[in-house]
Amino acid sequence: MRRLTQNLLVPVVMRLLIWHAEKRKRPFIGSINVVNRCNLHCAGCYWTRTEREQDRVELSIEEGAELVHTLWKRGTSIIVTNGTYGLPAPNEWPRTQYYVSCDGDKAGMDRVRGFDVVHKANVFEQVKSVAFHRKDVKLTMTISKLNVDRIEAFVREAATWGIGGVVFSFATPNVGERQSFYLTAERKEQAVQEVLRLKREFRDFIAMGTRAIELLRPSEVARWSPRCPTFAAQSVRADGQLIERCIFGPEGDCSRCGCNIYTTLVAVQEGDRESARFMTPPARVASK
Ligand code: SF4
Ligand code: SF4
Repeated sequence: MRRLTQNLLVPVVMRLLIWHAEKRKRPFIGSINVVNRCNLHCAGCYWTRTEREQDRVELSIEEGAELVHTLWKRGTSIIVTNGTYGLPAPNEWPRTQYYVSCDGDKAGMDRVRGFDVVHKANVFEQVKSVAFHRKDVKLTMTISKLNVDRIEAFVREAATWGIGGVVFSFATPNVGERQSFYLTAERKEQAVQEVLRLKREFRDFIAMGTRAIELLRPSEVARWSPRCPTFAAQSVRADGQLIERCIFGPEGDCSRCGCNIYTTLVAVQEGDRESARFMTPPARVASK
């Protein structure tokens, strides 16, 4: 009965939230760059493109940790991190979900994230050690030309770790960027087909609705991106300034967007129940 109620109620509540966010200009998702520095140098990082060189007044690492803790106490339920500074112990922060970036199996990760010079450790091994046997952890793979051949290997590897699941997005370029790092529309379409095939096999372990995956197809992106529901989310820089439009900043190329948060929002707007189920209840998100 509880499940039936949830199945019926969650999509309605989520659509109402999105409607409310648009009409009242009240975003219900927020992301905060807790500090403006990063110990890694991942290929294709949009934060590096837009923020790394900016001299922002920011918190110390200790103050950043304190801010995350304060946000959690106020209801933040998602932490997005590269995982190299560890995670709170299981159940230390109840009802909290952790999304750890993991751009493939070891071969894929080595190409994108490589070595953490601060901790003097391989990033893949660090992520594996923090995520292992944690159902409250999901891995998030950003697909680019560097790792597109590692999608299936990544899912099969992650499925042995005892974690909560995996999600996928595509690297999103700035307008005019033509680097070979980004996939062609044709290759992206093939990658989406591969994720859909894996979704049929791994079901909820791929923690996105089928429709949210389909909406990553270039032909779908062309249709929804001009009406992207950016009103539902607000991103904040490390010095507290709002990021214009979306997490990719004003230069992000909407016609080549690969963001799974927005495909999930669009799927929910369309009435897709599965995507609504995967969408975590309203939460403020602390990143990095
Ligand atoms: S960990 Fe995140 S912010 Fe840091 S370089 Fe990699 S993608 Fe960019
Ligand atoms: S780049 Fe930003 S505004 Fe454009 S479609 Fe993607 S998420 Fe929406």
